[in-house]
Amino acid sequence: MSHKRVYTFGNGQAEGRADMKNLLGGKGANLAEMNLIGIPVPPGFTITTEVCSEYYTLGKEKVIELLKTEVEKAIARIEGLMSAKFGDVANPLLVSVRSGARASMPGMMDTILNLGLNDDVVEGLAKKTGNQRFAWDSYRRFIQMYGDVVMGVKHTGKDEIDPFEAIIEEIKAAKGVALDNELDVDDLKKMVARFKEAVKRQTGSDFPNSSYEQLWGAICAVFDSWMNERAILYRKMEGIPAEWGTAVTVQAMVFGNMGDTSATGVCFSRDAGNGEDLFNGEYLINAQGEDVVAGIRTPQQITKIGSQRWAQLAGIPEDVRRQNYPSMEEAMPEIYKELDAIQTKLEDHYRDMQDMEFTVQEGKLWFLQTRNGKRTGAAMVKIAMDLLRQGVIDEKTVLSRIDPNKLDELLHPVFDKKALAKTKVLAKGLPASPGAATGQIVFLAEDAAGWYNDGKKVVLVRIETSPEDLAGMAVAEGILTARGGMTSHAAVVARGMGKCCVSGAGELKIDYKKKTLQVGSTTLHEGDFISLNGTTGEVYEGKVATSAAELSGDFSDLMKLADKYTKLQVRTNADTPHDAEVARAFGAVGIGLCRTEHMFFEGDKIKAMREMILSETQEGRKKALAKILPYQLADFKGIFRAMHDLPVTVRLLDPPLHEFVPHDLKGQEEMANAMGVSVEYIHERVEALSEQNPMLGHRGCRLGNTYPEITEMQTRAILGAALELKKEGIHVFPEIMVPLIGILYEFLEQEKVIRETAEQLFKEMNDRIDYSVGTMIEVPRAALTADRIASSAEFFSFGTNDLTQMTFGYSRDDIASFLPIYLEKKILKVDPFQVLDQKGVGQLIQMATEKGRAIRPNLKCGICGEHGGEPSSVKFCHRVGLNYVSCSPFRVPIARIAAAQAAIEE
Ligand code: ADP
Ligand code: MG
Ligand code: MG
Repeated sequence: MSHKRVYTFGNGQAEGRADMKNLLGGKGANLAEMNLIGIPVPPGFTITTEVCSEYYTLGKEKVIELLKTEVEKAIARIEGLMSAKFGDVANPLLVSVRSGARASMPGMMDTILNLGLNDDVVEGLAKKTGNQRFAWDSYRRFIQMYGDVVMGVKHTGKDEIDPFEAIIEEIKAAKGVALDNELDVDDLKKMVARFKEAVKRQTGSDFPNSSYEQLWGAICAVFDSWMNERAILYRKMEGIPAEWGTAVTVQAMVFGNMGDTSATGVCFSRDAGNGEDLFNGEYLINAQGEDVVAGIRTPQQITKIGSQRWAQLAGIPEDVRRQNYPSMEEAMPEIYKELDAIQTKLEDHYRDMQDMEFTVQEGKLWFLQTRNGKRTGAAMVKIAMDLLRQGVIDEKTVLSRIDPNKLDELLHPVFDKKALAKTKVLAKGLPASPGAATGQIVFLAEDAAGWYNDGKKVVLVRIETSPEDLAGMAVAEGILTARGGMTSHAAVVARGMGKCCVSGAGELKIDYKKKTLQVGSTTLHEGDFISLNGTTGEVYEGKVATSAAELSGDFSDLMKLADKYTKLQVRTNADTPHDAEVARAFGAVGIGLCRTEHMFFEGDKIKAMREMILSETQEGRKKALAKILPYQLADFKGIFRAMHDLPVTVRLLDPPLHEFVPHDLKGQEEMANAMGVSVEYIHERVEALSEQNPMLGHRGCRLGNTYPEITEMQTRAILGAALELKKEGIHVFPEIMVPLIGILYEFLEQEKVIRETAEQLFKEMNDRIDYSVGTMIEVPRAALTADRIASSAEFFSFGTNDLTQMTFGYSRDDIASFLPIYLEKKILKVDPFQVLDQKGVGQLIQMATEKGRAIRPNLKCGICGEHGGEPSSVKFCHRVGLNYVSCSPFRVPIARIAAAQAAIEE
C-alpha cells in the first residue's frame, strides 16, 4: 500500500487545503490554500506530520529511505516551475526548509533559508543575479542558520553572543564600521571562510557541500526541533499534545535581500493589540524574512497612518519621518496596493484576522505565510464583535471564537490615571502588548524564574528576547526590550501570553554583566521597580498604582450575546460585600457559596470566636456566641444588600476549630485574661483541639452536630439579617447550606435545628421569610446516597474541592510533592483540583444529580468548587444538567462564555 507522505503546491495548484492542518501543519495547509485562491506563493511541498511520528519511531535513516522518491520528485517539480536546478552551479535553485505544526508555535521550531548553496553554487548565483553582494550575504546567512540549527554550533555562555555574531562583530570592528550593510563582498567572503572554520572547530565536521545532504540534514533538524526544550515548554503552556508532530515545508526561495526594490515584512489585517480594524505591519528593505522578527534592525511601518502614529509616539517630526522612515505605502506604492488587496482577500477568505509574511523580490510580491493571528484578549473581543457587525460571521461563531481564559486579561486593572500623572516617564518604546505591569527589574530569564519562585513580581528587561527566554517571560509581569519592533519575538510572544510588553525602547542602555539599565542620567539596577504601559509604550520609574478595568462596550455586548444562548447560570463565591459587588458587575446571578468562617477573623470577632471554641461548656459557648451574633448579622446584611433580589447560599461553619485558636503564648495569655482563666487551661484546650488529620476530622456539619448552638446562632444571623432588610424593602433569598454531610441523619439533625430556630425567630420578629435548606455534596458517601439525602435537602451544591480530595484520596495541601511527577509520567493529564475529573468525580456529580432529582424533580444543583470557573469543567456541568456553577468573581465572565459555548456545542 502506498502511503502519501508529500503534498505539493505551486502555480495555482495544490494537493493540500486549508482544512488539512492536522496532516500538513498550519503553515503547509495555508500555503496550499493560498495557491488555490490565486495568491502568489513560491512553489514547494509539505512533508506530513505523520512522518514526524515515523521519524521518532523508525529513526532518521529509515525515514529518509521512505521519503526519498517522493521528495526527489517534488524537488523536480519545483525545478520545473522555477526553471532552475537544485545543486546546479550555472542556474541554482535554493529552498527554505520550514517547520509548521497544527497549532502555530511562532519561533519555537527551526527554519533554514537559502539551502542549496556551496562554494561553487554561490559563484553561480552571483553570476546569474549579477549581484555578488547578495549571493555572498545569502551564503553567510545559510551557513549561520544551518550551522546553528542542523550542526549544533552553540553559544558558549549565557551572556556571550553566539560564535557567528562574534565573528561578524570582529570583522566590523576591524573595518571600523557599525552596520552589516557597510560590509563589502570581500568582507562577506572572509566571513564565510571564518564561519566554516568555526563550524569545523566546534563540531569537528566539515560544512556539507552536497545540496541533498544539506536538504536531508535540514528536514531531520526540523523534526528534531519538535522536541527541543523551548518547543516542549511552549506546548506545555498552550496544552498542545506532543503526539501532533510538526510538518516540514520545503519551498523555493524568494529573496528580499536583492537590493532596494526588494523587501520583506510581516503584516496583520487588523490590530492584534487592540483589535482596531486597521491593516498594519512592518517591513525592511533589502532584507531576509528573519530580520524583521529577530529585532536586529528596527523595521519601518507598512502603512502611512501606522508610520505617522509611530513617529508621533517617538516624537519624530513629520518631515523627518517622511524622509528617513517612509512607510511602504509611500516608498513602494504599487507593491503596497497589491499587498493591501491580498490581505483583504485573505481576511475575507478566512473570515478572521490574518497574520501574514511576505517578501518582495525585485518588485514582485510573494506571500510566504498566513494564519489566524494571535491577539490579546481585548483584540479577541473587539475583532469578533466587529466581524459580527460587519456581517462576516454569525453570533454562534463569535461565541465559539472566544477563548474564555483570555477574557481574564480584560478584567484586570490598568494604571490608575492619577497615579500615572504623578509618575516620571523614563523612556518610550513601542506599545507591543497592552496592559499595565509593575515589578522589579531582572535581566536574565533564569533570574526571572528564580525571583518569581521567591514570590516577587518581576519585569524582564532585555536588549531583545529569543525563544530561550520563554520561561522567564511566562513568569514576568511584563517585558521590556531595547530592540525590535511590533512583530519582534518579544512582542508576538507577549501578546500570545496576554502579557504587557514594551519593545524597541531604543534609549535604554542595558548591561547584562553589570545588571544595569541606563536611560540618560538615570541608572537602574536589578531589583529596582519599574512600570510598563503596554498600551502606550511608556516606561516609568518605580511602582505605579492600578485601577479597575473598563467593562462596557464590546465586552458587555459580548456578555449579552452569551446570555442569549446560555442555559447554565453563573453565580459567584463571595464572602464580602465588595466581592459580591464585583461579581454582580461581572454578571453573577447569585452567590453560590458564601463562607462564614472568613468573617470571624477581623478585629474583635476573632476574640469572641476563640472564647466560644475554648469554652468547655455549652453555657460558656452560648455566652460567646451571643457576642458573635451581632457581628454575623451585620456581615450578612452587607452581603445580602449587595446581592439584593438574587439568591445567596450561605454555608454554615466548616473548618476545623483549631484553625481559629491562638497557638502562640502571647495569644494564649490574651485569651486567658479575657476569659478569666489560667494560661495552662487555654494551652490544654488548644492541645485538645489539635487533630492528626484535621481535613478529615472535627469539621463541617460535625461541628454543628456536636455544638448545635453554633448552627442556631448562624441561623439567627442569616434569617435575622434577611428579615431586617425586608423591612427596608430589600428582597433576599437565603439558602442555608449544611457542609460535609455523608449520612442523611447528619443533615436531618442540622435541618431540625435550623427550622426550629427559624420558627422561633419568626415568632419573635412577628414576620417570616422564605428560605431553603440544602447541603453541600463533598463526601463520596453523600453522592452515593443522594436519593436519600434529597428526600430532605432542597438543594445540592457540589463542593468539588473536597469531593476531588476525597474521591482521589489526595490531600490538596500536599499534592505538590507528587503532582509534577504524575503529570510528567502522564499518570494524570492535568491537576484534578484545577480541571474537574469528569470520569471519576464527574460521575459522582452526574449520579448524585440524577438520584436526587428522581426523588425531588425540582432539586436545584450547582457546583461551587474551584472548577466552577474552569471552561472545560463548566461545559461538563452544562452537559450533566446542573442549574448553575459558582466561581470567584473574576472568573464569572469566563464561566458565562464557557456556558454559552456549551449550549452552542450541544
Ligand atoms: P516561523 O514559523 O518561525 O515564522 P518560517 O518558516 O515562517 O518560520 O520562516 C521564517 C522566516 O523566513 C519568515 O519570515 C519567512 O518569511 C522567511 N522565509 C521562509 N521561507 C522562505 C522562502 N521560501 N523565501 C523567502 N523567505 C522565506
Ligand atoms: Mg513564519
Ligand atoms: Mg468542603
